[in-house]
Amino acid sequence: MLEIQKLSVNYGGIQALQAIDLEINSGEIVTLIGANGAGKTTTLKAISRLLTIRDGLIIYKERNITREPAHAVVGLGIAHSPEGRRILARQTVLDNLQLGAYTRSDRLGIKADIEQQFLTFPRLAERRDQLAGTLSGGEQQMLAIARALMSRPQLLLLDEPSLGLAPAIVREIFTIIQKLHDAGVTILLVEQNATLALQYADRGYVLEAGRITLTGAAGQLLSNDQVRKAYLG
Ligand code: ATP
Repeated sequence: MLEIQKLSVNYGGIQALQAIDLEINSGEIVTLIGANGAGKTTTLKAISRLLTIRDGLIIYKERNITREPAHAVVGLGIAHSPEGRRILARQTVLDNLQLGAYTRSDRLGIKADIEQQFLTFPRLAERRDQLAGTLSGGEQQMLAIARALMSRPQLLLLDEPSLGLAPAIVREIFTIIQKLHDAGVTILLVEQNATLALQYADRGYVLEAGRITLTGAAGQLLSNDQVRKAYLG
């Protein structure tokens, strides 16, 4: 479904990604694990076309999207759920969800999908008119995911869904991720919590200082000595 070939990204003099190769098959949950600053968020931003790519190719469903603008990529079925606090704080929950559908024009479908998000995330339903900035951290994270789902993505890029959240909320969010996966959504999951990510993922990639150093089935990575020492605590 998605194939990244020799992708390199620079921020000024800093080489954040150095010729990474990565592949995601339809229906998979693939996780990207790595230390702070390894380049995980940069990879997601490159795919959703939020930054300039220096070198390499991003192929989505056999189409080269390396130079496509961000809105076109959303229209093609890729949605990015950034780390939770990137929602629009001064807008209501409902407004945020409507904004997630900005590439669509089917009003009835959008309305139905908003109700679907409220079924999936009952906490958001109770707070539909609340300003997003006043939601708890977990609720903001749920809103970030729900907003991404409003574009009806086939590929969902999830950045740090567990960041800073209490264990019970993290479980709630991962149960929803599992349900999305069961419903056929392909997921690229970036997580600091490597144990959790590898428990839900089919496959994983380890990113170190902008390079992929290891890849394999999630079970293999969970029992890999190198991974255990560096990332599984
Ligand atoms: P974390 O887990 O801490 O979020 P990450 O693996 O997601 O880390 P990135 O955010 O992708 O890492 O950052 C990769 C590297 O690029 C880091 O060294 C970071 O400082 C640098 N970087 C990221 N964004 C920018 C930017 N806008 N300008 C300059 N450097 C940046």
